[in-house]
Amino acid sequence: MNIKELDAKYVANTYARFPIEIVRGKGSKLYDSEGKEYIDLGTGIGVSIFGVGDEEWVKATTEQLTTLQHTSNLYYTSPCVKLAKLLCEKTGACNVFFSNSGAEANECAIKAARKYAQEKKGADYNKIITLNNSFHGRTITTLAATGQDTFHKDFLPLTEGFLYADAGDLEAIESYIATQKVAAVMIEVVQGEGGVVALSEDFVKGLSELCNKNDVLLVVDEVQTGNGRTGALYGYMKYGICPDIVTTAKGLGGGLPLGATMFFEKTKDVYTPGTHGSTFGGNPVATAGAYNIISRLTDGFLGEVEKKHDYIVKELSSCEGVKSITGMGLMLGIETVKDVNEVLKCCQDNGILPIKAKTKLRLLPPLNISFDELEKAIDIIKNACV
Ligand code: PLP
Repeated sequence: MNIKELDAKYVANTYARFPIEIVRGKGSKLYDSEGKEYIDLGTGIGVSIFGVGDEEWVKATTEQLTTLQHTSNLYYTSPCVKLAKLLCEKTGACNVFFSNSGAEANECAIKAARKYAQEKKGADYNKIITLNNSFHGRTITTLAATGQDTFHKDFLPLTEGFLYADAGDLEAIESYIATQKVAAVMIEVVQGEGGVVALSEDFVKGLSELCNKNDVLLVVDEVQTGNGRTGALYGYMKYGICPDIVTTAKGLGGGLPLGATMFFEKTKDVYTPGTHGSTFGGNPVATAGAYNIISRLTDGFLGEVEKKHDYIVKELSSCEGVKSITGMGLMLGIETVKDVNEVLKCCQDNGILPIKAKTKLRLLPPLNISFDELEKAIDIIKNACV
């Protein structure tokens, strides 16, 4: 049997894969089983932010792998402590809980928000407001947090206590806060799976003020937007707000599973021993790699991300087949005149691998992609769009 047949027989049928088998890569290049070269514009859905086989990250992870790969959280290990300190220094967070994925990072935030509100305001303060068109994960609780019915329908009943508002509708959120016992509001500053849609500055700032005024926690899900993707270390920083909890994953681990939930002043003491945990969370290999990644996301490097953003937007906005471009930094959604599936197929045939977000072409290239590679990739996109 070939790989397609073996996969169909032995792997649970949850993914509609493209007919491409990726066997290796280097930097921004991926190679399939027939030796065809592609420029990677998806980074495994925003994960490999320094590309494939990045030498510094490989060194950091392999050194740790050959020293100590795992201990559980029964003992102290230095890589996760070093990473937590670095994240706190760079964001102003007070402490960090480590897990293994975005969904788990969000689950941890939701639990913390409920515990905070119930202890502070009363046992029935458990409602979490999220936005329509959001995506927060695939567990039963993070599905409930995800404001898109299509993801809910086969899995009811979901975890109770979620309320949904439209992005931009501050009044709806204000009314929920006035009439329901709300613990927190959770947002993505750019809705990635929802079509790469950035929230407006007025809305995010207004929401932050509203939450502060009512002692409702503001949780920002930076699973996709985090770790330099938007051109800021975390996307919320572009809005000049200070959330109470920030979650991240994807690019933090750079290819190894790692989630983080960062607690700021108000929420730093919510968890106490025994109230939350994870066997693999803070794994030494994943956190040693993440330390390397986060320490390289300097202002200078992020400035380069913004230059690449400007270049892509300038080039594609003059292309006839492009209707609109949304997003921030190197997280871009391109609305095309042609059907996106047709555009995507043409891109793949011509040696680039972008992904999709709803009906848009989505670009999540390695943050260190070279201008030469970007130029080549953009030419292919332009041709595919017309
Ligand atoms: N939150 C956001 C904003 C995401 O984009 C995703 C995944 O796409 C998740 C949460 C879930 O992350 P994971 O697949 O690592 O559980």
